Order: sequence, then C-alpha cells, then structure tokens
Amino acid sequence: MASVIREGDYVLLYFDEHRKWLVKVSGEREFHTHKGVVKLSTIVGEPYGAAVKSSLDYDFWALKPTTYDFIMSMERPTQIVYPKDAGIILIKLGLGPGSIVVEAGTGSGALTLVIANAVKPDGHVYTYEARPEFAKIASRNLKKAGVLDYVTIRNVDAGQGFDETEVDAVMLDLAEPWKIVSKAYRCLKAGSPMASFSPTFNQIEKTVGAMKRSQFLDVETIECLLREIRVEKGKTRPVTFMIGHTGYITFARKALKK
Ligand code: SAM
Repeated sequence: MASVIREGDYVLLYFDEHRKWLVKVSGEREFHTHKGVVKLSTIVGEPYGAAVKSSLDYDFWALKPTTYDFIMSMERPTQIVYPKDAGIILIKLGLGPGSIVVEAGTGSGALTLVIANAVKPDGHVYTYEARPEFAKIASRNLKKAGVLDYVTIRNVDAGQGFDETEVDAVMLDLAEPWKIVSKAYRCLKAGSPMASFSPTFNQIEKTVGAMKRSQFLDVETIECLLREIRVEKGKTRPVTFMIGHTGYITFARKALKK
C-alpha cells in the first residue's frame, strides 16, 4: 500500500476513539457524520495521517487501515475468530510468507484474511466452506481487504476431505472438528501443525480425542483473554467490560505412524 492516498483506497476516517469508520475513497463520494460532511475526493494525493475539514469545520484524520480495521468492519454472517485469537494461531502454526494453508470453515473470512495477509505474496490459503452464501460473503470481504488473490475458496463440505496434500498447516473452525481431524492429518506435511477453534468444552474433548487417535502429538489447548486498559493520569485501570469468551484453541503436530 502506497503512503499517499489514491482513488479506490480505503482509509480509517478518525474523529475520536469512539468515532472512526473504514471508508473507500471513491469519486465524489461524501461521508456524512453528525460533525458535518467530509468530501473524500479532497484527500486523494494526501499522505496517510493527513487531517481533512468537515463542512462544519471539524478535523477528521485519514489513517492507514490495518488488518484489524478490515476485520472489525467486515460483513459478519457468522461468528468470527477475533484478532486476539488469530495472533496466537499465526504464531503457533508458524505461518509466514510462502506458507500453504488449508482452512475449514471459511465463515465470514476473518481468519482467512489474517492468514492470507501472513502468507502472501508466495503462499496460499485453500479454505473450505459448506454454505454457498457464506462463501460469497467471505469472498467479498477478502476482496475488499485486497487479499483474494492469495485465497481459493472451495464451496465444499470438508467432511469429503481436502484436495491438497503436503500443506504447511491446517486450521479448523467448524462445529464438528473431530470429524475432520483425520482429513487434516492426510493433507498435512509430516511434523507440521494444525489448530482447531471451538467455543465449548465438549467440542474440545472430542477434538483432542480424535487428534490423539490420529497420531497427532504435542496436543495443547489454550484460551486467550484480552483486557483493555483505560489510561488516565492517576486513574489508570482495566476497562469495566471485556469479551469474556470467544473459544478455545487446540494445537497439535502431525507425527508419522510407526
Ligand atoms: N473462522 C471463520 C471466521 O473467522 O470468519 C468463522 C467460521 S464459522 C464459526 C464456521 C463455518 O464453518 C460456518 O460458515 C459453517 O458453514 C462452516 N462449516 C461447518 N461445517 C462445515 C464443513 N463440514 N465443511 C465446511 N464448512 C463447514
């Protein structure tokens, strides 16, 4: 992404910490807020970080959007994997440029976006989604974030198995992952990791059982909690509310059968 804003780019239009929007700079588009109208065409050619005046003479800033902004503003017909969980998934799966990853299910494409961003430009994500309406929405979300070229969405039930073999990592986020664990084993490179995200204990018990039966080793389940801190001189403390529960993440590595 260039450091100068061009026609067709997305910017995070920032007024204050509660009022910020991911908007596309296109044509003569005007963005209406209760602090006045912002003419987006006036920021074309400006560097990211520049301020722009609204019609009511308030300052808005055109900030460079991050993966976080694309996830939090995406169309979400399903539960998504939140950034706090996606970060540890990337690290534990050892993903980086060039990695080839199989994922099921795609859902809204939030985690697909994070993975695609990590593996580009030479890597690829093959993501399986049983429901065509979700596959379509995920495709739109990934296109908007500029990573669709690094993703193949297969509108297929993962229960039928994966087409890919010798992949670097497998990621599961679907209702019955234990039924897919043996398929994940078949498509992974030996020694390589998989992860599974599930919201309930009964799901992780079944998934861990299936992993152990499939000759996965180093099986570990974690929960990742994130607490925001409100910083004010003399009154700094955690914010009152936090997301208490998203899900549990189980990691494992494929060992060869003796
Ligand atoms: N990780 C996704 C994200 O961050 O946006 C959310 C995934 S959502 C919780 C679970 C998805 O798995 C749903 O879209 C569902 O249709 C899909 N799914 C469930 N069982 C499946 C299967 N056997 N094969 C493929 N997709 C499946």
